[in-house]
Amino acid sequence: MSDSIRRWGGQPWRPQRFAVQPLRAGSADAIVVGGGLTGASAALFIARAGMRTILLEAGRFGDAASGRTGGLVLEGTAWGAREGANQCVPDLQKLIADEAIDCGLEINGCWEIDHRKDGGGKRLPWRDGEFPIRIVRTVAGGIVDPLAMLAGLANRAAAAGAILHEDARVTKVIAGESPAVEVGRIRLAARYIVIAANAWTPALVPGIRATRAALTYAIATAPLEEPTLAAIDLNPGLPFYTVDLPYLWGRLTADRQLIMGAGLVWGTADELEAVDIDEGESRAVLDRLEARVRLLNPALAAVRITHRWAGPIAIPDGQAPQIGRLAGASNIFVASGYAGHGVALSVTAGRLIARAIIEGASLPRWADPS
Ligand SMILES: Cc1cc2nc3c(=O)[nH]c(=O)nc-3n(C[C@H](O)[C@H](O)[C@H](O)COP(=O)(O)OP(=O)(O)OC[C@H]3O[C@@H](n4cnc5c(N)ncnc54)[C@H](O)[C@@H]3O)c2cc1C
Repeated sequence: MSDSIRRWGGQPWRPQRFAVQPLRAGSADAIVVGGGLTGASAALFIARAGMRTILLEAGRFGDAASGRTGGLVLEGTAWGAREGANQCVPDLQKLIADEAIDCGLEINGCWEIDHRKDGGGKRLPWRDGEFPIRIVRTVAGGIVDPLAMLAGLANRAAAAGAILHEDARVTKVIAGESPAVEVGRIRLAARYIVIAANAWTPALVPGIRATRAALTYAIATAPLEEPTLAAIDLNPGLPFYTVDLPYLWGRLTADRQLIMGAGLVWGTADELEAVDIDEGESRAVLDRLEARVRLLNPALAAVRITHRWAGPIAIPDGQAPQIGRLAGASNIFVASGYAGHGVALSVTAGRLIARAIIEGASLPRWADPS
């Protein structure tokens, strides 16, 4: 599988540069596998503690979930509050402020919406198929440009001494007193290994507790004019997601593009990596999403769609994301399985693993990786 030709469409986030270096054999105190938000966060905190850190990304930084997410910043996990994951939003806010990362983070809340025809709450001037849409409540959260946040964290990690590599797909993880990874023929050894590979985790660590992988989908409109925003009552509005089915989430970007997302196509990470979103089931999912958005309100009927894209998520079998040490390999850490609720949680997971490595802190029991 070629690493840098994921045909998952383009997202609307500002392009970013990552401070990458050519790959060579070597060793480090910690090797982090996966250049998404989990890996970048772990690498930043580990490197800040003065440990030699290598961050390996199979493809391009940002070309998986973290650079393709809608950037709704949500508290806790998709399964509610969990130990160690109850302060993800304020912790993220503080980190982004402390690191002075320019990523449009705004924490003004998030709407939970539903399709019920009765009940309280404000009705939005939308129809989702035959159903009205109602704001049920406003919860903690906000929005961010996720690619800018990822670049900020990864580049701060690099500034703190971490070495970032792209096109560096780990092909083997070798457990033992001095664990190592192989990137093709290149071997890298470390005291600790962090697996932050999201949907690819089961492929990289056979025998790991099951997570299922899926692509999930989103579209963005051209920037909306004032009358359109007024007609759909999103001026200013908050990001939103449904708490019932059919699922739908969305938000405005800084330049008032409307992003909306829904839909899942299941497969192994390898199968999903081969998907071309202009073909087959993916194309049909995106066509349905586009039609649904056009019907939400007459003001959106003829709106121009500028972006259609997909990205991978990992959904655990149980009721919680996984974080922990691999069974029988206390120096190999894993975090994954946040479903569509990982923008803030991934950064928390990276920080928790870093603390376990640096201070020997115990990890919360969300779900064991094995
Ligand atoms: C379309 C979409 C919308 C979403 N919207 C939201 C949202 O609004 N709010 C929210 O909270 N969450 C959302 N999510 C979920 C959120 O984006 C993810 O939970 C989070 O980004 C996961 O981060 P990660 O670092 O664990 O994974 P990723 O960002 O997927 O990073 C994993 C990285 O590991 C790399 N990798 C895999 N295998 C290897 C290997 N063998 N060697 C080296 N590298 C490897 C991959 O290439 C990838 O870059 C969304 C996800 C998608 C796809």
